[in-house]
Amino acid sequence: MTGAAVVVVGAGPAGAAAALRLAQLGVRDVVLLDRADFPRDKTCGSGLSPRGIRTLRELGVWDAIVPHAYRVTGLRLVTPGGREAVVSGGESAAAVVCLRRTLDLTLLERARALGVEFVGGFTAQTLRCDGDRVAGVVSRDGREIAARWTIVADGAHSRLTVDGSPPRMMQAIMGWWEGAPVRAHHVEMVFDRLVTPGYGWLFPESATRVNIGVCYDDPRRERNARRVFEAFLDKHYAQRLRAAVPVGGLKGHPIAYTYRVGRLASPGRLVAGEAGRMVHPATAEGISQRVVCRGAALARRRNVVGARPHRRRHTAARGQDGARAAHGCDVMPTAGDGAVSGV
Ligand SMILES: Cc1cc2nc3c(=O)[nH]c(=O)nc-3n(C[C@H](O)[C@H](O)[C@H](O)COP(=O)(O)OP(=O)(O)OC[C@H]3O[C@@H](n4cnc5c(N)ncnc54)[C@H](O)[C@@H]3O)c2cc1C
Repeated sequence: MTGAAVVVVGAGPAGAAAALRLAQLGVRDVVLLDRADFPRDKTCGSGLSPRGIRTLRELGVWDAIVPHAYRVTGLRLVTPGGREAVVSGGESAAAVVCLRRTLDLTLLERARALGVEFVGGFTAQTLRCDGDRVAGVVSRDGREIAARWTIVADGAHSRLTVDGSPPRMMQAIMGWWEGAPVRAHHVEMVFDRLVTPGYGWLFPESATRVNIGVCYDDPRRERNARRVFEAFLDKHYAQRLRAAVPVGGLKGHPIAYTYRVGRLASPGRLVAGEAGRMVHPATAEGISQRVVCRGAALARRRNVVGARPHRRRHTAARGQDGARAAHGCDVMPTAGDGAVSGV
């Protein structure tokens, strides 16, 4: 059995950002683990909103993302009635598309560079407990990591989250194409009754490659996702995809979301990202949700993990007022203090 101050389960954006922030705060002995080895793909539109960009700036990784990101300067919007509007914001990028393979690896590598230990191929199965307190994690093959704090960031299918009730799930399915004609640097959002109350999208990943997908509510999983998607493609993209070449097959993945964020903590345990269902219910945006930073801030404030300020690397704290510096960064507004009172 190995020991750590903090163990973070899941190295997606929520987990890797949590580990990185802890390291920036000067916390030592942080272990970040994932069932996958990195780099790995994640089924995702890979769109990063201004809020996501702001978070990456705060974490000090934005400059490393820029060379791999496709700038988004405008939006084509299609209404259920078939009307369309194009909004262009000039040259400055309001958002970007950055492949998750790259984004997630960049966060992970930055965390490792600051001393976070990464363990790939570790499928967490259960939590370790010390009385009522969560005290680490046990893998499917019996390996144990003991920790004073456990951050659960294992995504949509989380088995280790605090709220054990079945999450609301949107269904999503998407594909990739080379050579589809697009308006450069514009994303598309298509609202259509086929996928109400969700929507369909086209996100350009480069000058030549796009991803297209739909997300929709189907709590009883009665609809065939492939058929829903094919009907959507026929209606909105048949012409533009005629000469385009599909890249790989279609991929489906559910999205866990909520209108009201529930409990995100229990003694010794904090929940981050989609494991806490923190995905925007209207846009399915989940990358930038970052209550995770609150976990780091809380740990630091209570001085429970031996955090020592790491001023030179902790860009978010620089030049901020005292309260904000103490919290490390903004927190998602829907997760109130009550949500973490059990820690
Ligand atoms: C089709 C689709 C399109 C999307 N498009 C967008 C978009 O354009 N923009 C956006 O902001 N959001 C988008 N989302 C949502 C976004 O992908 C997620 O909300 C986001 O990835 C959540 O980040 P996370 O770190 O919480 O979880 P994840 O990114 O899911 O990471 C969880 C990590 O935990 C690991 N893990 C899981 N179980 C275990 C275990 N038992 N043991 C160890 N490790 C484990 C996984 O391997 C994974 O690396 C989309 C989602 C889908 C499905």
